[in-house]
Amino acid sequence: MNINASSASSLPIEEKIRYARELFDRGGETLLREPSVTKLLAILDRNIAASQEAMVRFGIVDACRHCEEEEGGSCCGAGIENRYNPILLLMNLLMSRDLPEKRQWENSCFFLGENGCRLKARHILCINYLCLRVQKMLPPNDLIALQTITGEEMDTIFLLHETVKKILNKNIR
Ligand code: SF4
Ligand code: SF4
Repeated sequence: MNINASSASSLPIEEKIRYARELFDRGGETLLREPSVTKLLAILDRNIAASQEAMVRFGIVDACRHCEEEEGGSCCGAGIENRYNPILLLMNLLMSRDLPEKRQWENSCFFLGENGCRLKARHILCINYLCLRVQKMLPPNDLIALQTITGEEMDTIFLLHETVKKILNKNIR
């Protein structure tokens, strides 16, 4: 199987999810036996926890909650899910995070749930995004500290994505 994530980029999100599940069924065991993959999954797990902790510590979680509860909604709009490809979705399955069957709110991203994003391994666009309000709210030193922490998560996402793609292309026919 030639895993060309970009060739799947125009598929509807439901098709990409189906494709990711198929990849997991066919290659999940192989991938989870690869030390390069398990090592990166463990690093990503730590990176995600560090990013989440920083978002709480710097007050961003509170700001977003206020925004959602008082001002009518999150910035996770419909269409952002189209940035995701099957490999990135597969990475969620490898991290034991199931993928949703359907969109919860018509005008929101397919992956937005009651408690925020339902994904664990997220697109760089989602990890990196800070609205103007949050950018203005944070002192420069905090902003730099946050970007350093989320930068590590983005680096690991990229490395794991490329590693998974390479292994699937070599092993799954
Ligand atoms: S990132 Fe900004 S716009 Fe989006 S929910 Fe948080 S505060 Fe609101
Ligand atoms: S953070 Fe999650 S819910 Fe929000 S836009 Fe990104 S994938 Fe969608």
